[in-house]
This record gives sequence, C-alpha cells and structure tokens, in this order.
Amino acid sequence: MYRVCVEKESNPRTIPVGRSSRLSGSSYWTSPLERGCAVLHDRAGRIYADGNCTSESYREADALVADVNKYLKTEGKHLKDYMARQGLRMEAPDAMGAMSLEDQVIAAVLKYDTPIGRRGILISNSPGYEQRVRNFGDQYMAQIEDLAERYELAKEFVLEHELFHQAGITGEIATQRQQELFYRQRARQTKGKEKQRYEAKARAAAQRIEEEISKN
Ligand SMILES: [Zn+2]
Repeated sequence: MYRVCVEKESNPRTIPVGRSSRLSGSSYWTSPLERGCAVLHDRAGRIYADGNCTSESYREADALVADVNKYLKTEGKHLKDYMARQGLRMEAPDAMGAMSLEDQVIAAVLKYDTPIGRRGILISNSPGYEQRVRNFGDQYMAQIEDLAERYELAKEFVLEHELFHQAGITGEIATQRQQELFYRQRARQTKGKEKQRYEAKARAAAQRIEEEISKN
C-alpha cells in the first residue's frame, strides 16, 4: 500500500545544506537527509542541495515548488477557507523540494529544530515522485477514467494531505478525516464535474481511513 507521507518530528541534523550556507537568517539550512539526495528551495527562491543529487532531483524539486505555488493560487484558496473555519492556519512551508524518502512514501512534511528555530519543509520523494503519485491514483481513483484527470486529482490529494500536516494536524487518520470533511463540504457546494472531483477525493480519503483503522 502506498503511504502518502511520513511525518517526522525533531530530527535535527547540523549539516549545512548548500555550498555556502551561513549561520544566519534564511540562508541557513540544516538537512534532515538520511540517505540519497535533498534539493530544497527556500522562500526567497534560493536552492540548496545535499548528498548525491542528479538532475532528476533538481527537476522534481522544481516541479513540486511549481505545483504547490499553482495550487495555493487556485484550489488552495478553498482549502485555506476551510482551514480557517476549523481554526487552522494554512501556512506556506519554510522550504520545499525533493528528497530521498523511504520506499512507497510519496511525500512528507518534516519539522525539525535548528539553531534559528523550528523549520517545516514539504518534500516529495525523489527520484520517482510522479510515478508514485500515478500509482496512488490508480489504486484509489480508478473510477476516474481520464488518466490525466486521475493523476491531477491524486496530486491534489497528496498536496492537500501535506498541507494539513503543515497546518499542525498529525496522524494519518486525523489528517484524512479532515480531508474527507473538506471534500464533502466542497462537493455540497459545487456541481457537475467539479463536484465529481471532490467526490472522488472524498472516496479516496474514506478508503484510506478504513485501511488505517483495519491496520491498527
Ligand atoms: Zn500523512
């Protein structure tokens, strides 16, 4: 079974990311890297790399940043409104990028302490993020016949999941319950194709909650 993500807390490492990191302001990054490669973009657009990174990881980091930024300007507005009503705050991560994660993990929000405070980063698994998103879509959204649409929905599902973690919801069941609630509310407020999209995501969340419950 594909896992949407891993959550990790307080896993500080003191390896500076990037060639000329300084111990000041946002030009300082520590890497939670355990293996492989990490490519991170900070909020100012600076790029840091650690480990053995191939051009694929740079490309996947670029793609994730573009996806998240596009999402926040479009569909993310509805998520932000929903979160506000739940007393949550949707915040952009301190950094985003690509990193080698465990097998079958698609993405992650990592929070860890550094000498300049707590940091939250949103990362996609690299290499192979897109393939894992497609596998996730095939597993949970197979009723959507248009493949481009199926994979777009799968990608949104993953980003929404991570943004709930970023907003402070922890635990897979609690996170997916929030997702399902959000999708069901939106499905009631929309019609036609848009409604079907939310319904597909709600079904995926419900299925994953059941799987989590039967695992425990
Ligand atoms: Zn998660």
